[in-house]
Amino acid sequence: MIEVRGYAAHDHKSPLVPFSFQRREPGPHDVQIEILYVGICHTDVHQVRNDWGNALYPMVPGHEIVGRVVKVGAEVKKLKAGDIAGVGCMVDSCRQCSACKADLEQYCEKAATQTYNDKERGSDQLTFGGYSEQIVVEEHFVVKVPASLDLKAVAPLLCAGITTWSPLRHWKVGPGQKVGVVGLGGLGHMGVKFAKALGAHVVMITTSPEKGKDAKRLGADEVLVSRDANAMAAHALSYDLLLNTIPVGHDVNPYLALLKRDCTMVLVGALTAMEPPVFGVNLMLGRKNLTGSGIGGMAETQEMLDFCAEHGIVSDVEMVPIQSVNQAFERLLKNDVKYRFVIDIASLRGGSR
Ligand code: NAP
Ligand code: ZN
Ligand code: ZN
Repeated sequence: MIEVRGYAAHDHKSPLVPFSFQRREPGPHDVQIEILYVGICHTDVHQVRNDWGNALYPMVPGHEIVGRVVKVGAEVKKLKAGDIAGVGCMVDSCRQCSACKADLEQYCEKAATQTYNDKERGSDQLTFGGYSEQIVVEEHFVVKVPASLDLKAVAPLLCAGITTWSPLRHWKVGPGQKVGVVGLGGLGHMGVKFAKALGAHVVMITTSPEKGKDAKRLGADEVLVSRDANAMAAHALSYDLLLNTIPVGHDVNPYLALLKRDCTMVLVGALTAMEPPVFGVNLMLGRKNLTGSGIGGMAETQEMLDFCAEHGIVSDVEMVPIQSVNQAFERLLKNDVKYRFVIDIASLRGGSR
């Protein structure tokens, strides 16, 4: 077994603290990665605080992982020692169901194994995430990171990036379309960058007027403040796609009013119930679609990283040492991050990189 140091939550209300644990030695198909950087996704806060009622403790969060391969099993073909690798939200799936066969492992009918807050397949061993020094993952769930990119700013692509890329591609966003990205946080800022790079006319839809300047810098053509009823009315019936990253249940009805006939709002933020409820009439009048999307498959994650390398796209990050992770969680909840915290794992090893 490999001894690993990390940070863990032990219940839903105490701060994360240093935690030592063991990982398996790499098997024939495994890749052992020395973690360099890990992003702090809003999901990490939801999970640690048990917002979704499924928390397993001790919990080592972290599913936006970039690191250096230190060892590979004898059967591994895709990567070798020294390569830069990424790991996102999943570390396993059944590989046999129709979703897995369609490269949509995130929708595995037997449930993909989550990078943390889950159990290894067929075992009671908890999975532990990237707020740690090392991780061992089966080759299929590891992607190659183009070394030309700024690695600390690549980490958030492994969740925030793929979660916004996948629906933009699925709904075929491109030139001539007006796309609204709702919520300028970790996911939202990547949604703006990708929608722009794909050629759409992009509107940042935000509750925070002070973020307008940043939104334009990130690539938005326009900014719409969702709390301004007059501005919302002026944008009615004009959007081809809305990508909604709001992290909590909320009133989706005003956003549905923005969609053109037959067009779609994709929820990627809120996993819980919408309040107030969705009114059927707001879908019926104009035959509108309200749907959701979860991360992306492994092939699509590699495609997204390759697109980022080609177009020079990375996240806007604020680096934090792991010792400040609890303060970073508090700031994230106060909407005070531009636009993703990334932990430098060198701080866990006691040095800086
Ligand atoms: P984040 O950085 O906190 O950004 C969320 C943004 O939503 C905020 O910056 C804010 O933008 C807006 N917002 C926050 N609270 C709001 C409220 N009460 N009403 C309206 N707008 C609000 O979070 P994130 O890391 O992007 O994650 C967003 C959500 O996606 C989380 O719930 C996370 O669990 C979920 N997620 C889902 C997937 C998936 O596979 N579907 C993957 C990753 C994450 P403005 O200031 O611009 O309004
Ligand atoms: Zn995430
Ligand atoms: Zn499956």
